[in-house]
Amino acid sequence: MKNENRRRSFIKGLGLGSLFLGTAQYGLVAQEKEKKAKPHYGMIFDQTKCVGCSDCEIACQKVNKVPKGQHRLYVEDQTDLKDILNRKFMRISCQQCSDSPCTHVCPTNACHRDSITDIVTMHVDDCIGCKYCIVACPYDVRFINDETKAAENCDFCKHTNLAQGKEPACVEACKYDALVFGDFNDKNSYMNKILDVKDSVRLKPNFGTKPSLRYIPLIKAGV
Ligand code: SF4
Ligand code: SF4
Ligand code: SF4
Repeated sequence: MKNENRRRSFIKGLGLGSLFLGTAQYGLVAQEKEKKAKPHYGMIFDQTKCVGCSDCEIACQKVNKVPKGQHRLYVEDQTDLKDILNRKFMRISCQQCSDSPCTHVCPTNACHRDSITDIVTMHVDDCIGCKYCIVACPYDVRFINDETKAAENCDFCKHTNLAQGKEPACVEACKYDALVFGDFNDKNSYMNKILDVKDSVRLKPNFGTKPSLRYIPLIKAGV
C-alpha cells in the first residue's frame, strides 16, 4: 500500500498523472470494445419447416465423427398419435447457454467457453470423465463419447465446419431451411432478420441459463 502511495506521488510529481489515467482509461475502453466485439453465436430451429428427415443428425455424426448410436443432436418426433396428420418434430441438442452450468462445474476446464468464439466446447484431452458437466446440464444433452472417453456437446461444429469457414454441418445439410445459424451481435445477420419478424421461444428459460437456441414453434391453425 505504501509503495502504491509512493508510486502515485512519483507520477504526480512528474505531472504524468493525467497521462497515466488517460492511458488506463483508454485501456478500459479498448477492453470494453473487445468485449462487445465478441460474437454470440446462436441457431434457429424452425419447427414449422422441419419434416423430420434426420439429414441434420446424419451430417453431424459424419462431420464430427460421433460414434454410432450416440448423438450431439437428434430430432425427436413429438407428433400427437391422436393427430398424426400434424407431424411435429423437435431438435434436441446443446443450447449453448450464455450462463452455462456445465462449464462452471468442470474441475479441469476441459468443458469451457472458447475465448474467441465464446462457444461452449471441449478440450478433449483434459477430460477425466467425472460426468459433473453431464449432471449439471439441465437440458440433458451431454454424453461421454464411447471412443474418446471424453464428454461432448454440440459446439456448432467449432472444431470442424466452423474452423473451415463453413456453417455447422446440420445447417448445411437441411434442405428445408429449418435451421439458421448466425451471430446475435451482428444486427445484419440473417438470423436476426428472421427473429425480427417471427415469434420464437427458448426452451425452459426458467432454468436461467440463457440458451442461445431459438425455436419457431408450430402453432396449429385455429388454436
Ligand atoms: S445446454 Fe447443457 S451442455 Fe449446453 S451449454 Fe447449456 S448446460 Fe452446457
Ligand atoms: S466429464 Fe470431463 S468435461 Fe465433464 S466435468 Fe468431468 S472433466 Fe469436465
Ligand atoms: S435436416 Fe432439417 S428438416 Fe431434416 S430433421 Fe433436420 S432440421 Fe428437420
